[in-house]
Amino acid sequence: MKIIKRDDLLKHKPLIIGGPCAVESRIQINEAAGKLVKMGVKILRCQLWKPRTDPDSFQGIGLAGLKFLLEIKNKYNVLIATEITDKDQIAKTQGVADILWVGARNMQNFELLKALGKDKRPVILKRGLISTIDEWIGASKYIGSDRVILCERGIRTGADSMRFTMDINGLLVAKYDHNMPVIIDPSHTAGRADMVPYLAYAGIAAGADGIVVEVHPQPEKALSDATQQITPEVFKEVISKVNAIYKLRHQKEFAITHFGAKEKVQPGKKPTKTLLFLAVSDRVGILKDILTVFSDYDINLSKLESQPGKQGSWDYAFEVEANSNASEPRLIQALSILKKLCVIIKILGEY
Ligand code: PEP
Ligand code: MN
Repeated sequence: MKIIKRDDLLKHKPLIIGGPCAVESRIQINEAAGKLVKMGVKILRCQLWKPRTDPDSFQGIGLAGLKFLLEIKNKYNVLIATEITDKDQIAKTQGVADILWVGARNMQNFELLKALGKDKRPVILKRGLISTIDEWIGASKYIGSDRVILCERGIRTGADSMRFTMDINGLLVAKYDHNMPVIIDPSHTAGRADMVPYLAYAGIAAGADGIVVEVHPQPEKALSDATQQITPEVFKEVISKVNAIYKLRHQKEFAITHFGAKEKVQPGKKPTKTLLFLAVSDRVGILKDILTVFSDYDINLSKLESQPGKQGSWDYAFEVEANSNASEPRLIQALSILKKLCVIIKILGEY
């Protein structure tokens, strides 16, 4: 099986993952997969092992379900994401699961995380029910940060009007201060199907890189999390709005403030990097011309990200991290040349 890389997954902008809370039967997962694939979903959540509060509740069909996953994988050409609750399952899912998954209750199961660190597949790491961001980031390092996609699935707070509270603040800190991709799980946050779409929209508007949603062909018959699973029909509507919000987030001025959230100023420290926002009109060679200016002034870049801007005075924006502080003459001179090439230049911050 070809191993997909985490960064290739992140080329899906936004990343959309859907599927039932649990694989229940061959018929159920085939029906779910058929409907999801038809609406363009390329990654399915297919959980075989279910950590449940009550030992008398449905625990998942376990290894017996692997053959169903292989069947839908081959039939629909989809990527399979599945939760690992024990390190023995890592080897057993090889050749079937493209993406491994650590549930909230296992976020600090360090032996499991270390074992995952020896695998090569991307891992979705859910945030623990009451974990801090530092604990979440620490856990990701056991696996290897460059293979991890974090998943904010709601935490316990004093607010108890829904199952959990989606921590938008935490999402922003994990994404921008720790430079990690973060997707959201509005299903477990809400605990109720009618609120799932709104939480998905809020998370995407705030900065999430994608969503993972529980989708069941007949939610009322689900063997686990029946109250929060949405139908494929509702999911279709959610995907279309999520895509629209994601696009809006990357447009024009909105993008400027969005990038601005990355400022990492450390009081008292002399800055060594400058974060720049450069918006340009599209033409062949514009990126090369911009890069040449930095190279002419001997300025190394540690980051370059592009974002399309569909309307208005510019077509593309680049977020550039230059290894120079903003008062160094070489950067000041480079910016004076870049002014002629760009529609907008903003210094977003130094750190
Ligand atoms: C799940 O994804 O079905 C699940 C149990 O989620 P969590 O680990 O976030 O509770
Ligand atoms: Mn669930």
